[in-house]
Amino acid sequence: LKEKNARSLWHPMTHPADSLANPPAIITSAQGVRISDVDGHEVVDGVGGLWNVNLGFSCQPVKDAIARQLDVLPYYSTFRGTTNDAVIELSEELRDFYEPDGLTRAFYTSGGSDSVETALRLARQYHKIRGDEGRTKFLSLKKGYHGTHMGGASVNGNANFRTQYEPLLPGCFHIPAPYTYRNPFNETDPEKLAALCLQALQDEIAFQGAGTIAAMIMEPILGAGGVIPPHESFMPGVRDICTKNGILLIADEVITAFGRTGSWTGSRHWGVQPDMMATAKAITNGYFPFGAVMIADKVVEVFESDTSGKAAIGHGYTYSGHPVGAAAALACLAETKRLKVNENAAARGAEMYAGLLALQEKHELIGDVRGGHGLMCAIELVSDRASKTPIDKKSGGVVQDVAYRSGAIVRISGPNIILSPPLVLTSEDVQVILSSLDAGLEAAAQ
Ligand code: PMP
Repeated sequence: LKEKNARSLWHPMTHPADSLANPPAIITSAQGVRISDVDGHEVVDGVGGLWNVNLGFSCQPVKDAIARQLDVLPYYSTFRGTTNDAVIELSEELRDFYEPDGLTRAFYTSGGSDSVETALRLARQYHKIRGDEGRTKFLSLKKGYHGTHMGGASVNGNANFRTQYEPLLPGCFHIPAPYTYRNPFNETDPEKLAALCLQALQDEIAFQGAGTIAAMIMEPILGAGGVIPPHESFMPGVRDICTKNGILLIADEVITAFGRTGSWTGSRHWGVQPDMMATAKAITNGYFPFGAVMIADKVVEVFESDTSGKAAIGHGYTYSGHPVGAAAALACLAETKRLKVNENAAARGAEMYAGLLALQEKHELIGDVRGGHGLMCAIELVSDRASKTPIDKKSGGVVQDVAYRSGAIVRISGPNIILSPPLVLTSEDVQVILSSLDAGLEAAAQ
């Protein structure tokens, strides 16, 4: 299998020769919060699939819902003229779930990158319908991650995800992120740093001209960029600046929606109502590729009241509103609410954060520990704490490999080990992740 894998499969985000040099674990089964590989290892999933398996892997109500839907209607499009009962029911439930965020209408996609792309397009169209043709630019945060399509790549904050694909969308500008460990202001106080980043945002808007900007897109807590929670003043500050300047605020909640931060959504965590929210991942817990952009009335009303013809949407996916995905999402949402996974995320997340801070006392390799907002945690690894020199790739790989052999899968991304386990894990599972990481760090320090 390993040879065939290297010969015939090209892994995302991976050098094509790497599959031979570092064969990936071949996962054969998964139950609860544990995954098993072809070599007989069984490990706790510290990654939650890829930030998406919030409910664990044995969710019988979701499997039943998918099986039922496959029997009655496996597919039909939701393009003009047809819809289906599964997606209608889901939309009503999402409307209810997102009511506190002020989001009432769902546009369906096949995943996170599609949701981001959809939100960016709708933002431009919103301004065009209103006669604000000049508002085409986008703002985003450095270290933000918004997927792999050309629009999403253009607003990605990490240049590594952009430069190979240029020229990208013109008119995308990246604002300093509220990242206390490293920032251009050398500011370590979270509140002061938030104020500096907000000032940078205002400066960029003034420089570009407010009337040229369509939307600002941001993650409420930066995820793939290394789990960077901002000071509580930051997202409300962004909301305020966007409102004052007629700029739409798109919350990219592909990771943070559905309880991961301890709140039901990341925006709600900070008391902010965005104009649009990109969701995907945990919406179907990994059972089906699916996503939704949730949209505020303010935006819907502009589209609905248009008589010029500009509101006809030239955008949609074959699998928008897929009935099997909708049935899966409906069952996932019911389980998510029944199990109150946000509460367990907050409690287990606090344990994990405390455990990581304790590991930092022991391991010089840990430069920074980030968490404290549910089950999104990261440690940033350095070869030298004083100079904050990032750990080399080989040593980072040792941490990941030894942790895996010690009982938990964790993910290295750049210098960061990212932890985003299923939200249903127990305190014992948290301890397994921490002790495996401990073993990995011990080995890498040798
Ligand atoms: N936005 C964010 C915040 C993400 O974390 C991701 C994926 N990690 C995406 C968008 C893209 O989602 P997908 O991989 O499902 O296309």
